[in-house]
Amino acid sequence: MSAVLPWQQSQWDNLLSRIAQDNLPHALLLTGRRGVGKQRLALQLAARLLCTEEQPEPCGQCKGCRLILAGTHPDLKVIQPLEDKSVISVDQIRELSHYLSLTALCGGYQVVLISPADAMNVNAANSLLKTLEEPPANTLLLLMSDRPSALTATIRSRCQVINFAKPAHDSALTWLKNQQPELDAQVANTVLELADGAPLRAAEMVAQGALDQRTEMLDDLEQIVAGRCDPIEIAKKWLKLGKKESLYWVYGWLVDMVRMKVADQPPYIANADVAPRLSKMAATIALPLLYKRLDQVSEALRLADNQSINAGLLLEGVLIGWTPRC
Ligand SMILES: [Zn+2]
Repeated sequence: MSAVLPWQQSQWDNLLSRIAQDNLPHALLLTGRRGVGKQRLALQLAARLLCTEEQPEPCGQCKGCRLILAGTHPDLKVIQPLEDKSVISVDQIRELSHYLSLTALCGGYQVVLISPADAMNVNAANSLLKTLEEPPANTLLLLMSDRPSALTATIRSRCQVINFAKPAHDSALTWLKNQQPELDAQVANTVLELADGAPLRAAEMVAQGALDQRTEMLDDLEQIVAGRCDPIEIAKKWLKLGKKESLYWVYGWLVDMVRMKVADQPPYIANADVAPRLSKMAATIALPLLYKRLDQVSEALRLADNQSINAGLLLEGVLIGWTPRC
């Protein structure tokens, strides 16, 4: 079992004492930004309940723990959108009701993870309400959401909420550097900022080569600004790299460029390792135009989740604005 994340220790201790007092609610809603470790804590809690050893932390060795680590414990059910789907359907929740009507195979708790809970469509959420109102004994439902406001009030009101705030910067940075010892301190800081302070998200970005991708994209943008390449071709390339990731990088650069424009020595720059390149670009763009582009990228980011919008055109729209003729 992995160790409890340092910024979740107090919530974890609280859960352990509630287990010791036999005072665990039947439904918890874990909230907090993406990459703060909600899923990890949920699995840790599931392991605590399904571990057969009598000790505060899950042992990681017993049959229960080993089945959890293998993802095959019969009394742990994980509900998430099916492959290629973005919603959790009513059929998945109906199947869950049936599952919970059966006795736990190992004779203890039945634990259910629903992630992300806000992916349930209206019918699925309504169907889950019945289970939340009359939960079978020895059942724990763990709902997770980055966007709890997207859940219905009736669902929220039937769960006890545990919110994970943004971890303290130093704690997050220390954890990230332990995970990625080869990462330069300044770059670690940058990635953490770009991950909105969420350490697990930052580690995932590094593992996925996000920094190399960012450098390549900055090269592309410089080429567009210099009039040396076609923004439409670059939009096609960026689409393959990920529309939201691409837009997010541009957004971050623009925010840094605005910081450079409004202060001679800005107290903070997220992309500090490429600051000279951003500064050079910022020198060619007037502040009102930077704000205009920032608005444009924000709007594109807002539209990026909308499946009916052509993502290629969205990126083209953003990049064409950077060509010298515009
Ligand atoms: Zn165990």
